[in-house]
Amino acid sequence: MADPTTAPAPAEFDAVIVGAGLSGLVAAAELVDAGRRVAILDQEPEASLGGQAVWSFGGLFLVDSPEQRRLGVRDSLDLARQDWLGTAGFDRDDDEWGRRWAEAYLEFAAGEKRAWLRGKGLRFFPVVGWAERGQGRAIGHGNSVPRFHITWGTGPGVLEPFVARVRAGEAAGLVSLRFRHRVDELIVDGGAVVGVRGSRLAEDEAVRGAPSNRDVVGDFEVRAPAVIVASGGIGGNHDLVRSAWPERLGTPPAHMLSGVPAHVDGRMLGIAEASGARLVNGDRMWHYTEGIANWDPVWPAHGIRILPGPSSMWFDAAGQRLPAPLFPGFDTLGTLEHLMRAGHDHSWFVLTQRIIEKEFALSGSEQNPDLTNKDLRLLADRIGSGAPGPVEAFKQHGADFVVADTLPELLDGMRRLSPTACSTRASSSARSWRATGRPCTSSPRTCS
Ligand SMILES: Cc1cc2nc3c(=O)[nH]c(=O)nc-3n(C[C@H](O)[C@H](O)[C@H](O)COP(=O)(O)OP(=O)(O)OC[C@H]3O[C@@H](n4cnc5c(N)ncnc54)[C@H](O)[C@@H]3O)c2cc1C
Repeated sequence: MADPTTAPAPAEFDAVIVGAGLSGLVAAAELVDAGRRVAILDQEPEASLGGQAVWSFGGLFLVDSPEQRRLGVRDSLDLARQDWLGTAGFDRDDDEWGRRWAEAYLEFAAGEKRAWLRGKGLRFFPVVGWAERGQGRAIGHGNSVPRFHITWGTGPGVLEPFVARVRAGEAAGLVSLRFRHRVDELIVDGGAVVGVRGSRLAEDEAVRGAPSNRDVVGDFEVRAPAVIVASGGIGGNHDLVRSAWPERLGTPPAHMLSGVPAHVDGRMLGIAEASGARLVNGDRMWHYTEGIANWDPVWPAHGIRILPGPSSMWFDAAGQRLPAPLFPGFDTLGTLEHLMRAGHDHSWFVLTQRIIEKEFALSGSEQNPDLTNKDLRLLADRIGSGAPGPVEAFKQHGADFVVADTLPELLDGMRRLSPTACSTRASSSARSWRATGRPCTSSPRTCS
């Protein structure tokens, strides 16, 4: 029996998790279910608990679901695997783990995922979206069928059960949630990561998603046999995005928007690497080319992604129609590559009032209050006349929108927004297109 005066004190926690976003909370909830003690550290104030997922649309990848079958969509694990491999383009030695992860995730998405989520109370909207259709070739990039299952309650609805589980763990004394704790270092001992060190940041009244101060008021150290880094991506840090930019996409755009809050700063990736983590595929990044500046921003350069249907006409900055299959919502990286080769960092959607009412949606929980708040009455309004409220607000106030009653006026507005790029090509293409109703345009930019 160990001498209680010399034996090391038992660790206070079984695991420490860096990041209280969705991935950190899911990991914590699983640990709580297993009766483990967990410290969750996050640099942001409690108001931002849940990270990006709170803002997200909550569209989930499921394969061969009852929702798909009800709509007559024929999906299978094999088809999803073919699509995944066609999109990932695994061709590097480093891809071994990515490949294995893909296989495990595909089996999860075609197997227990839906039942697991439903068991936690999640429900899905009966219409399945078709995100990223790709190039339309069997073994190429993209989803061959609709697989984008919209959660009833959007991003907050996805988070809800995991937050509840973590809060229950907190009440049971299993979880310690520590906000304003910024991890600056992983503690390595004998080749193993055994804990984290960092700075305590000053309290901050920042509302959810808004940037908070980085004033250091102290330090901390937490040790545990397992350390999980769930610190999110790099989309809020354009310097990092630019430094990892892949050659094949050309020069990074001069002007980018951020689809994510500033705390998605990628800083923890460098810290993990300095402690011996092997980072792979930094250049395999994802951007949306349909980003518009939020007229009511929460974070710097706040971009909102248009979830477009296919009917808008899409032109590059110089007015050249984008070639097939670069239709809205089909192949975002292919479109980005094309636009960057053309030399401008924005493009134009040209659409009519009817199209904006019928098939112009915006990504994000706050842009879809009906689905987020599970409000059936508001949802029914989508079928009525007029664009949904948030879309209409962008049309009225969005800096990237031009609304005009005639095509010449529309062209004048486009030239005002983009004086150097806009040529007359869009004018002739748009004239040959029989516009009905009030034309409007938006000029989307890259949104990371
Ligand atoms: C508008 C929008 C729409 C989206 N729509 C969808 C969708 O429909 N479907 C889909 O699958 N995905 C969607 N996403 C993406 C999805 O929401 C994110 O991929 C996911 O939420 C990321 O979760 P995470 O926990 O990995 O990272 P994050 O949410 O970024 O959380 C990471 C946390 O770590 C903290 N952190 C970072 N570094 C440190 C440090 N050094 N010390 C302490 N704390 C640190 C951060 O403060 C943050 O709270 C969307 C995202 C947005 C913004």
